[in-house]
Amino acid sequence: MNRHARSRTTVYAAGALALLAAATGCTGGGDSGAASAALVPASGSPASGSPATAAPSPSRSAGPSPTASPSGGPAAGDAAAWAKWHLTPLPPAPPAPADKPVKLARTGPVPVFSEVKTSDKVVFVTIDDGAEKDPKFVEMLTDLKVPVSMFLTRDIVKDDYGYFKRLQALGNHIHNHTVDHAQMSKVPPEKQKSEICDAQAALTQQYGTPPLLFRPPYGDGANTPALNTAVQQCGPRAVVLWRESMQIHDMQYQAADKKLRAGDIVLAHFRGPKDLKGETMTQMFGELLARIQEQGFAVARLEDYIEAPAA
Ligand SMILES: [Zn+2]
Repeated sequence: MNRHARSRTTVYAAGALALLAAATGCTGGGDSGAASAALVPASGSPASGSPATAAPSPSRSAGPSPTASPSGGPAAGDAAAWAKWHLTPLPPAPPAPADKPVKLARTGPVPVFSEVKTSDKVVFVTIDDGAEKDPKFVEMLTDLKVPVSMFLTRDIVKDDYGYFKRLQALGNHIHNHTVDHAQMSKVPPEKQKSEICDAQAALTQQYGTPPLLFRPPYGDGANTPALNTAVQQCGPRAVVLWRESMQIHDMQYQAADKKLRAGDIVLAHFRGPKDLKGETMTQMFGELLARIQEQGFAVARLEDYIEAPAA
């Protein structure tokens, strides 16, 4: 049986993976630590050696981010900036790959993935929903220049779209996470479509660019034909799940060995003390970065590994 060879190298998640993902995601109020007991490894053993033939790396170009803070904050890896947040700096991310491991088509079924195939020692951080709008978190990302991808739920962010514009201005992308966080497999196809299309319209209007990616709440329904059709009708060109889910102090891992792997997509949420047992958004995010740093990974920008369809 070579079950795990497949699950670690393919860009597209197997159906089983989606079920695992559903066990950990977007649990709304409260902490979902109990869900970890239900997690079964999709791939048992650690990655067996890095691929012999990695894509050639382009030579390092200018800065880490072409859209760095206009206010001229400290450069990525600036020890003083990290010390301000009581953190050890992460390694700098390598240059964005010239040949993107994920290539999205303009039409047709959309892929579903929870990791990106890369030999770069990077993971990707995604943050969902949008409930907590902590100004200190904007300051934190401004200082640390850690890239994040935001999956926003319209009715959770609509009271303050501007908060996320500040995070967008740091170079971070905004994606679609429905109108009101519906559990997609529990609603009919027409409702699935309106959940995605209405959020797509609002986010496009607010943020000036149509979301490229969609994430269903709880990861639910990700591999169903109805959801795939609805996504196609509304504009996003991929469904993105995750491999790890940040809680308060640690992550839930789908892998049995509880280790990050190159290309993993990590889920976190915009949450505050009410949902984090008194911890703040920046405390939670600092813990997330510490868990990544301990394992020697850099955080790369997910969109740098994805080739959007030609316009
Ligand atoms: Zn969510």
